[in-house]
Amino acid sequence: MHEQRWKTEAIEKCDVIVYTKIFLKFPCKFWPCGPGKEFFIYAHERRGYYTFWQHMENAYPGSNILVVTLTNGESKRVEAQSDQETLKEAMEVLRIMFGPDIPNAIDILVPRWWNNRFQRGSYSNYPIISNSQVVDTIRAPVGRIFFTGEHTSERFSGYVHGGYLSGIDTSRALLEEIRKEKEKERINETQSFLLEPLLALTLSQTDTVPGLHKCEVPRQVFLSRKMGIPEAIL
Ligand SMILES: Cc1cc2nc3c(=O)[nH]c(=O)nc-3n(C[C@H](O)[C@H](O)[C@H](O)COP(=O)(O)OP(=O)(O)OC[C@H]3O[C@@H](n4cnc5c(N)ncnc54)[C@H](O)[C@@H]3O)c2cc1C
Repeated sequence: MHEQRWKTEAIEKCDVIVYTKIFLKFPCKFWPCGPGKEFFIYAHERRGYYTFWQHMENAYPGSNILVVTLTNGESKRVEAQSDQETLKEAMEVLRIMFGPDIPNAIDILVPRWWNNRFQRGSYSNYPIISNSQVVDTIRAPVGRIFFTGEHTSERFSGYVHGGYLSGIDTSRALLEEIRKEKEKERINETQSFLLEPLLALTLSQTDTVPGLHKCEVPRQVFLSRKMGIPEAIL
């Protein structure tokens, strides 16, 4: 695709946010479980520093896994350091919340959505002041290339259902385009058929095409165009 300034300018107006769920596996549980107890929040003077915690006991009982969610600035910071450094920071926070005697995590998973060159972030985040024109431009096709995904959904950008619904909309738009093209082809064919003089073939030519009758106009048009029979006469 040749660069289309209007398209790239619109894309540049849409930010991509990083959202990181870090998974920590422990040898045993030390956090509260049971009804109404799934999330806990840590308040640090630095905004977003290991703030949102969740245990996985409801989804995966016995897994002994905690998840902590970081976003954007903190995500990028953590992505740039080693998993061991992140583990150390997370354990310090957990010891402030649950006391010094809790066991160390035995495993850690740190997704790197920002550094993944095929992702460069987690989902779109339009600026508060942006208007629907930006989304329309991002969604607009460039020639035969169509665009879809959560970032093309004005109402639900950033969410799974935005991706799902925009996929349906874009496939409908694509089918409509195919239908229009076919319709255009059909009209062109009809018009050229009407404009072209009716063709008949000389006897010697019909001999070379067995089974062809002079009254078979559509077939004669087909033959005169597609097979390039040169000596069709009026
Ligand atoms: C950590 C995280 C947590 C999230 N949490 C939530 C949540 O709780 N709730 C929620 O609603 N949403 C959440 N989201 C957002 C949600 O996942 C996305 O909005 C949604 O997946 C977008 O769907 P999509 O189909 O538009 O794009 P994607 O899911 O990114 O699909 C695009 C696909 O295209 C493929 N692709 C890319 N380039 C090419 C190529 N050149 N050729 C072929 N294939 C290609 C990719 O491999 C991918 O499979 C979260 C996202 C992240 C990262």
